[in-house]
Amino acid sequence: MKVGVIGVGYVGLVTGTCLAKIGHRVWCADIDAKKIGLLNEGHLPIYEPGLDELVSDCREAVSIEFGTDIDETVKRSDVLFICVGTPSDMDGSADLSYVKDVAAQIGAAMDRYKVVVNKSTVPVGSTVMVERIIEENLEVPREFDVVSNPEFLREGSAIEDFFNPDRIVIGSTSQKAIGLMTELYQPIKAPLVITDPASAELIKYASNAFLATKVSFVNAISNVCDCVGADIKEVALGMGYDKRIGFDFLKAGPGWGGSCFPKDTRALIKIAEDAGYDFELLKGVSNVNEEQRKRIVHKLDELMGGMSGKRIAALGLAFKPNTDDIRESPAIDIIRMVTQKGARAAVFDPVALDNAKAILADVDFCDDPYEAVKGADGLIILTEWDEFKWLDWVRIRADMLSPVIFDARNCIDPQGIRQLGFIYKGVGR
Ligand code: NAD
Repeated sequence: MKVGVIGVGYVGLVTGTCLAKIGHRVWCADIDAKKIGLLNEGHLPIYEPGLDELVSDCREAVSIEFGTDIDETVKRSDVLFICVGTPSDMDGSADLSYVKDVAAQIGAAMDRYKVVVNKSTVPVGSTVMVERIIEENLEVPREFDVVSNPEFLREGSAIEDFFNPDRIVIGSTSQKAIGLMTELYQPIKAPLVITDPASAELIKYASNAFLATKVSFVNAISNVCDCVGADIKEVALGMGYDKRIGFDFLKAGPGWGGSCFPKDTRALIKIAEDAGYDFELLKGVSNVNEEQRKRIVHKLDELMGGMSGKRIAALGLAFKPNTDDIRESPAIDIIRMVTQKGARAAVFDPVALDNAKAILADVDFCDDPYEAVKGADGLIILTEWDEFKWLDWVRIRADMLSPVIFDARNCIDPQGIRQLGFIYKGVGR
């Protein structure tokens, strides 16, 4: 099928590339000429494992092309994916300005029947809104359908998630559009949830809010563990074996962040509020998350006997491993709080350093973890990159001024590290 993807960010680039890989002809368009320039020179604007090879394969096979001409992309395609950002507005609601702009452009360029697919995470009612905007911008009356098809991929495993999703959700009332969407995804083996647009839109928010709730819950339990002397890892293990609970999203840490959970949680609270429901539970989930970051800084402060004037090595900046995404990363917040308390942070991340340089001030950016720990009075692990588990801890012990480790991701074996002479504290253990 001829597919257009508008918005070539984390979601658009992965979606477009994977659709090209399963046999579709794909045109990707973005208003960011720099991003498109990079892609056309064979470079990726983001870090996502395995994506480099896939994009290059598809470019070689001429099954994917990148450009800035939205009109042309619309005209070439039978199915059009809207993959632009929907960041938080001042009041917590989703800012739909990018979606609206794209809908207007699609309407103005529409030359024959097309299915317009909303892949961006958007509030209930957005399918109807996009329909209305397209209608208003049509030069002559044309038939078209707008479908809600929320995205569930996770940065860091986005390609695997595209090819092996837990489900594909299609929200539409048009049999013609549902038929085309089913054909488009035919090579992907996954349960299809075909539903109305409002339910499809809400499925995405409800799923993210549920996962955020699970993380906040386990973080709250980790705080109880700290108070009563239990070990959250043992508690989570015992809980996770219960199939009704499961092991996923049961890791205590500095709280959830990234480009989705925080903004989607805020948006769902606002959606509910606008509809007359006070979503107190979700507000609590969000508060626990905010508090968790502060608690981590407080505990680090306690562990170090005060941090003013001291040097702290911070390992990890991305909101989770295997991505360079630092949007609403707990690591960034924690580093800022540590700096405000008068400490000097020496920071390292395997792939997110460049992104962090654009937003972090008054810190030392280091090229490797060993540079970060040199002369440090304390070390905090903020992202559980695999490589941090296998560091030369004997060397680190020798290079640090004071061997204090706060493992905010519970990724190091406490017994082993204590045997090397470190003072170790994890989250809830
Ligand atoms: P992103 O910020 O990485 O990418 C958005 C892209 O849209 C940017 O490249 C931007 O230049 C482009 N854009 C903005 N306005 C445009 C316009 N008028 N025409 C063409 N391009 C335009 O965002 P993302 O992380 O890919 O997220 C996109 C959507 O998908 C959001 O709604 C997000 O909530 C949702 N989502 C994201 C993830 C994720 O893990 N990142 C997962 C599931 C769903």
